[in-house]
Amino acid sequence: MQDIRSVLERAQNNGVALGHFNVSDLVLLKAVFSAAQELRVPVLVGTSEGEREFMGVRQVAALVRALREEYDFPVFLNADHTHTLDSAVEAAQAGFDSVVFDASALPFEQNARLTRQAIEALKAINPAILVEGEIGNIGTGSEIHELATDLSKYLTTPEEARQFVAFTGVDVLAPAVGNMHGMSQKMVAGEMKKRLDIQRIAQVRAAAGVPLTLHGGSGTDDEDLRRAIDGGISVIHINTELRVAWRSGLEAGLAAGDHQVVPYKVLPFAVASVKQVVLARLRLFNDGKQTSAEQKTGVASAV
Ligand SMILES: [Zn+2]
Repeated sequence: MQDIRSVLERAQNNGVALGHFNVSDLVLLKAVFSAAQELRVPVLVGTSEGEREFMGVRQVAALVRALREEYDFPVFLNADHTHTLDSAVEAAQAGFDSVVFDASALPFEQNARLTRQAIEALKAINPAILVEGEIGNIGTGSEIHELATDLSKYLTTPEEARQFVAFTGVDVLAPAVGNMHGMSQKMVAGEMKKRLDIQRIAQVRAAAGVPLTLHGGSGTDDEDLRRAIDGGISVIHINTELRVAWRSGLEAGLAAGDHQVVPYKVLPFAVASVKQVVLARLRLFNDGKQTSAEQKTGVASAV
């Protein structure tokens, strides 16, 4: 079984990106896993602090571990946007493969100092754990916002990226490059797309010297995502698109039977709806062709 580090390296070498999908329940987890399994590409499952609080830190770790072991499949678990050291340590102790330590709301130097401390503590628990740090402002909340906020003045500069990585020693960096969390109502309706600063991605990647993660990928223009991968993005986070699909699938499941109260007859509608989104995103991140994705990521030989 490959570890998360070698899967990430292989993705970089082959010009593809790993899909990172947030889950808050078993419906989302089933949808994400089944899509990755169908396409035979590795996948990252993410849980934010709120999502972990709902599912249980050790419980979600046990679910993902059970899938990885039973199917001998490269599915990994990330502690997304972790704001305190205690909560990062809890995730590392529960067996998470990676942690996004997010002190990006603080001034740059404080962020760098706290991130460095977190890395030290987390690697002491598990030397193989990947730690990601974040700089710049990409907004908060993977939900539907009335309007898209203009975050263009908070974009990450190559110099900040270089300094942050050199000081902290993060394994992965999350920059602000035109991405943002959540989706506006126009994006949900498909009338508007997020656009990325591709040139900046390439400059930040070169200055950082470590793989980059794109947060807030929901609602982003497909072509921009492809070009972002070429520019040096190795992991792409999708959450809000899944939540939108979760809700519409759930509504369809409830509407299908007036007196239906059997969860395992209602919830498969939601699984199917979310799975379609995950399939489409994984195809795009892995170059749009299943066979090519298999060759490029080498997962076919690993599963
Ligand atoms: Zn994020």
